[in-house]
Amino acid sequence: MSNAQSVDIIVQGAGPAGTIAAIKLQQLGFTVAVVTQPSRYPTVIEGISQRSYQALENIGLQQLCAAISPAVPRYIDWGERSGQANGERLIHREVFNAALLAELRQRDIAVQTAAKVTRQWSPASEQWRVAAGEHSFTAPLLIEACGRQARVAAEQSRAAATVSLHQHWQRPAAAERPPYTAVAAVAQGWLWYVHAGDGQIYTQLSCGGDSAQTLSHSAAAIAELAANLDPQLFALDDASARGELLSRGATPRLNRAAASRHLIAVGDAALAADPLSGNGIYQSISSALIAPAVVNTLLTAPDRAELAIDFYQKRINHLYQRFGRLGREFYADEQRFQQQPFWRQRLSWPDAQPSHVQPDQILGSALRAVVEDDLISRGEVVITANHPLGIWRIGGELACERLRRHGTPLPSLD
Ligand SMILES: Cc1cc2nc3c(=O)[nH]c(=O)nc-3n(C[C@H](O)[C@H](O)[C@H](O)COP(=O)(O)OP(=O)(O)OC[C@H]3O[C@@H](n4cnc5c(N)ncnc54)[C@H](O)[C@@H]3O)c2cc1C
Repeated sequence: MSNAQSVDIIVQGAGPAGTIAAIKLQQLGFTVAVVTQPSRYPTVIEGISQRSYQALENIGLQQLCAAISPAVPRYIDWGERSGQANGERLIHREVFNAALLAELRQRDIAVQTAAKVTRQWSPASEQWRVAAGEHSFTAPLLIEACGRQARVAAEQSRAAATVSLHQHWQRPAAAERPPYTAVAAVAQGWLWYVHAGDGQIYTQLSCGGDSAQTLSHSAAAIAELAANLDPQLFALDDASARGELLSRGATPRLNRAAASRHLIAVGDAALAADPLSGNGIYQSISSALIAPAVVNTLLTAPDRAELAIDFYQKRINHLYQRFGRLGREFYADEQRFQQQPFWRQRLSWPDAQPSHVQPDQILGSALRAVVEDDLISRGEVVITANHPLGIWRIGGELACERLRRHGTPLPSLD
């Protein structure tokens, strides 16, 4: 094996979270290497909102954005709601993953791919050594970005087990119509149907672990479920299954040790949301944008390490709780199946609190960790019901100063 190349930071995993973290860390002046394995699920399709697309565009990921479809109409059959809901953009993960690697290479970030990546922490030298085939890198800090395959040693907060069953289909050309997606509640869970164009159909059934076992025997079981739905939107009667039915774990998961002095987990390695939220990629972008200031603090202002670690973990916990509550509210909108085990289990998790208080309530001010000049420091923030971690700045202005100037009372919460 050749000698290891020494860098400031190794990113393990080149999904959206690892890629964005690597690019942002390079922009802060660090040397970064990305080491990744090929995806276990290259053939899946995912949908993203305009907000997620905009976030990728704002980061400057033009090649990646070019690999994402234009927005297609999205229909919904969920509780009281039915009809066209909004639009979404489609991601063919194989194409998307290749574009992520292209974004890294375009920026001269070292990228190594191998069927198996190994890593080792040496307490004596306080260095990681990560190897991909013949190549290896050493660094004092590792970004854990292996998605749901990440090793999570610390206690996790798990919800009821969810499994998604994925199937590609082909319909005769006569059934052609412009691309669209549709989502429907069914007794066992929910079905996402993608009409990708050229008669190509993709279905993703998300259900509880037990149902997945029963249904995964054949694509015919999925077609049977679809036969009870609106035939204009969920037609599979004249479709033939292409390839194998694929089963993918989709249980929400929180990493309670997402940050330490030598490792920061981003994306699904930090928190993996219920796919119902359609927000997985958005939250990956969010954590990958928060992490660089934390890493910068750990490497250049280590006296503030505890503050930075606490700052990061609290944000990860908050995102997880917020997506969990949003999911529960969405499941509660569907009344027809609430006695079914899949639905019953999801009506009380993670708690009974609303995801959002309307209107928001200002609770007071407190001294909290904030991001200042790409480092974590302390600042006085406004605490509100919807922002328990605090708002430091509004536009360019300090939030507390602005509210005081307008005569808003801000009792100290410290
Ligand atoms: C069933 C299902 C449906 C979903 N649908 C949507 C959707 O419609 N919209 C949406 O926004 N999100 C969706 N998501 C969530 C979305 O896929 C993830 O949130 C997002 O991909 C996470 O990005 P990431 O970079 O953290 O991880 P990933 O995208 O999983 O990337 C991790 C990378 O690390 C690599 N890797 C794995 N192990 C190792 C290792 N040991 N060493 C090195 N590299 C490794 C992997 O091959 C992969 O390339 C869905 C998730 C599931 C489970």
